Amino acid sequence: MSGAGSGMRVAVVGGGAVGVTAAHDLAVGGADVTLFERGEVASGASGRAAGVLYDAYAEDVDAELGARALDRFREFSGSDGFEFVECPYVMLARDGDDDLAEAVEGAAERMRVHGRPVETLTGAELGERFTSLAVDDVAVAAVASNAGWTDPASYVEMLAEKAREAGVEIQTNTEVSVSTTPPGVAVADEAPVTRRFEAVVVAAGAHTKRLLAGAGIPIPLKPYRVQALVSSRPFDGPMWYDASAGVYARPHPAGLLAGDGTVPAEADPDEWDRDADDWFVSDVSDTLRARAGYDPELDRAWAGLCTATPDGDPLLGEVADGVYVAVGWQGHGFMRAPATGEAIAKQVLGVEAGIEQFDPARFDGDEEFQISEGMAVDTDADREA
Ligand SMILES: Cc1cc2nc3c(=O)[nH]c(=O)nc-3n(C[C@H](O)[C@H](O)[C@H](O)COP(=O)(O)OP(=O)(O)OC[C@H]3O[C@@H](n4cnc5c(N)ncnc54)[C@H](O)[C@@H]3O)c2cc1C
Repeated sequence: MSGAGSGMRVAVVGGGAVGVTAAHDLAVGGADVTLFERGEVASGASGRAAGVLYDAYAEDVDAELGARALDRFREFSGSDGFEFVECPYVMLARDGDDDLAEAVEGAAERMRVHGRPVETLTGAELGERFTSLAVDDVAVAAVASNAGWTDPASYVEMLAEKAREAGVEIQTNTEVSVSTTPPGVAVADEAPVTRRFEAVVVAAGAHTKRLLAGAGIPIPLKPYRVQALVSSRPFDGPMWYDASAGVYARPHPAGLLAGDGTVPAEADPDEWDRDADDWFVSDVSDTLRARAGYDPELDRAWAGLCTATPDGDPLLGEVADGVYVAVGWQGHGFMRAPATGEAIAKQVLGVEAGIEQFDPARFDGDEEFQISEGMAVDTDADREA
């Protein structure tokens, strides 16, 4: 990609994991890039993410993006305070949850078809492998070995630094609006002067729909709350997702991080509750006790916004001449950011990116849809819905 965009003037809106990756890659590709961030870098969902990383996806493009992202996390690991910690990821369904057990088995099979290193284990086999997990009620488990965790903010800060070194001008505390024909941005607090660019990439997370609506571009997107907590009691085990309970956990420098707590209702990106709900802390604590014999000692708990689309796939591509969007990650935006940011940068630079499947033009923008939980394993009924 090096040099492909020689001198092309590009604006990136949003300093989350996706925006900084795109800005960095655009600059490395030769573009003249300005990144606008309304707060500080990582002040959106990326700074609130759990940092669970894996390539265990059942569909082909997802699996490729997941694998590419992990390769890049490993390449960047060790630089500027960012570290990728290798750790297997276990996905399990309980006895009696037959549809879910079938779905976990089926998904693991499709992951293997797409070259992902994923094993299917019985509860007993899982118990032999990971003694920290209670397995008596486990019907089936899938174990992905290409996985790990990190502190998400450290990735964004590290890549923002690399982007600056590559020549990107990062303007923080700078909220912008977007315009089209020709592409441009206007800084919210300044006199209404539109700065023209050859391309604008909108990676503004939960604000993306509102931002593009202001430019007359409708996209089908709903922000929704998800939650996480950190407990200060040590946990020595794999990352795991109990699909029957809808709860995941991973080791954390302070002890353990756990989450999900999806609230499947559209949230206002400017007015939402940043604190975790009591029911979430209580439900997750019950699952931690049952699944890992782990009695949590709450350090902190919080909420953040994810973004949903009608089909659960991202909106990644051009939405108007020279205006590009990168959003709609359904709770998987951080772990794929090194690849999705790279892909949108490639598309802007006119390099084959292989993301046609996520072309936002597959929607009119006014679609009605329900928010579905991001981590959930799709059962046959879900897929037919
Ligand atoms: C509790 C929780 C746990 C999660 N766990 C995981 C996980 O384990 N793994 C995973 O892959 N994903 C996880 N996610 C999802 C993940 O956080 C997001 O998918 C990902 O961070 C999205 O990155 P982004 O760059 O697209 O958006 P963001 O990080 O939200 O960045 C968008 C940026 O745009 C800025 N912005 C908005 N409007 C404007 C404007 N008008 N002008 C300038 N700037 C603007 C915002 O301030 C923000 O910084 C989790 C999310 C939450 C809330």
